[in-house]
Amino acid sequence: MNYVIIGNSVAAVSAIRGIRNVDPKGNISVISREKHVAYGRPLISYLLGGLVTEKRMAYLPEDFYERNRVNLLLNNEVVGVNTDKKQVKLAGGDTIPYDRLLIATGGDPFVPPIEGLAGKEKVFTFTTWDDANNLKGIAYDIGRVVVIGGGLIGLKAAEGLHLLGKQITIVELADRILSNAFDRPAGRIVAKKMKANGIDVITEDTVLRIEGEGAEINGVTLKSGDFIPCDTVIVAIGVRPAAGFLKGSKVEVNRGVVVDDRMETRVSGVFAAGDVAEARDFFSGQKNPMPIWPDAYIQGDIAGVVMAGGEKSYKGGVAMNSLELFKVPTISMGISNPVDPKEFEILTYQDLGNYQYRKIIIKGNLLVGAVLVGNVERAGIFAGLIRENMDISPFRGSLLAPDFGIIHLPREIRNALFAPSGKVA
Ligand SMILES: Cc1cc2nc3c(=O)[nH]c(=O)nc-3n(C[C@H](O)[C@H](O)[C@H](O)COP(=O)(O)OP(=O)(O)OC[C@H]3O[C@@H](n4cnc5c(N)ncnc54)[C@H](O)[C@@H]3O)c2cc1C
Repeated sequence: MNYVIIGNSVAAVSAIRGIRNVDPKGNISVISREKHVAYGRPLISYLLGGLVTEKRMAYLPEDFYERNRVNLLLNNEVVGVNTDKKQVKLAGGDTIPYDRLLIATGGDPFVPPIEGLAGKEKVFTFTTWDDANNLKGIAYDIGRVVVIGGGLIGLKAAEGLHLLGKQITIVELADRILSNAFDRPAGRIVAKKMKANGIDVITEDTVLRIEGEGAEINGVTLKSGDFIPCDTVIVAIGVRPAAGFLKGSKVEVNRGVVVDDRMETRVSGVFAAGDVAEARDFFSGQKNPMPIWPDAYIQGDIAGVVMAGGEKSYKGGVAMNSLELFKVPTISMGISNPVDPKEFEILTYQDLGNYQYRKIIIKGNLLVGAVLVGNVERAGIFAGLIRENMDISPFRGSLLAPDFGIIHLPREIRNALFAPSGKVA
């Protein structure tokens, strides 16, 4: 069997493991347009800020590819897939045949058309090791930075640049930062902490024009008319599934590559996993890319096992976002911003002065979501209760307690969450 995997990040790595668990013999080729072995993408802000060295970026044992007998083709971009001939085409013109294909290409940063952007030298996106290195390489030449977008990636970029001592302004279109992943109080707490550390946060506004002569930037003009002086711009509006190379192929792409619960596309033998795939939401059943690391790992594993002839299926993804800025850890999971709050019971505790906040979202007797700011030590328990659909009625009253933990859980729930073998925890 000839397996080809496009992409070499977390979904690809778990797919390699999944394949090898079932098929120790088949040929595996992995094609990546990046020049690095698999690395911790969430670490790029620490790489930029100097908290992590290049050596620490790769997280696999050095002999991972060799031990799994993977033919690794780095620095190679796939530009087309022909599902009739079962071939992928590389940018250099070569074709590679496959019996089973996995698309694990993640997301591409989205850069909207902004007046004045074309030809400007110091405009960056921030999703790869090389993006961090490029910024680091010209750090001596960066004074003031405008980050367009106050989502997770924008804040991570701001964090890295702040560690380098740069002056930063974040410009966010919504009425608060982190509006997708977190709720209003959590966004406010994070914004407060950022401001306290000298990072300007402007909301309900956007960059209309990048100003400056030739390749130089001297500032940005906002929709409100305000002018923010800067010499560097980071565009962090969001990512889109990296599926452009599938244009003209029979693989269906909607908000992401359309897959079933076995991660197979509608073309037999072609699979997709990770940020590029349209995964099923655990609660709503709606299909959307679930752009988080743990889910990419789960999906890649399922795809690998199924590609090799085994059976596994996706239970649906639980959204989970975490961020630690200026020593304030923040995690949201599940349904954190219910559209119709009347259907839910919402419990909150807050001590904004000390950057502490906890929100618990309950539907019936089930925990369906949580937002934790400041104290996130019990996040694993909350996630387990959500994923395993545990009846929380016996300890409902303790969920908000600052010391809520395993001790509050009845023995059978403890066992179900932490000792699936049946042993008492
Ligand atoms: C700055 C930042 C911080 C993050 N922080 C967190 C966090 O704290 N927690 C969390 O859960 N998630 C976080 N994420 C998201 C997480 O990194 C992603 O969910 C995860 O990396 C997705 O893995 P993947 O394997 O699907 O794809 P990716 O990691 O996106 O990798 C896809 C790979 O495929 C390659 N590729 C794409 N197209 C082609 C092509 N045509 N030919 C060849 N190769 C191709 C890409 O270059 C890339 O190397 C963060 C992301 C970023 C950018």
